[in-house]
Amino acid sequence: MHIHFDQTCEAPERSKTMAAYGTFRVTDKKCATCNYYQGARRFGMQANKPYYVYAAAGTTPCLANPNRKVTANSRCLSWQKWVSIP
Ligand code: SF4
Repeated sequence: MHIHFDQTCEAPERSKTMAAYGTFRVTDKKCATCNYYQGARRFGMQANKPYYVYAAAGTTPCLANPNRKVTANSRCLSWQKWVSIP
């Protein structure tokens, strides 16, 4: 029998980070809802519409500001709506 071990599951820091996340409204103009944000996130529906963004805790680079590390709760004037939100 062949047993497959998933090598990608070996980062305890990452799984710890992913366990904590923040909840945002899709209308919040924060990094969590911005197209330039690089952190892990997904959106949740309410009444068949995208309503929440769940963003993992921690800092991440910003595509629009290469020298800046941001959290989901940060904001700036370069904000653009995350294209994955219909
Ligand atoms: S720092 Fe500005 S441009 Fe970058 S992800 Fe946050 S809101 Fe978007």
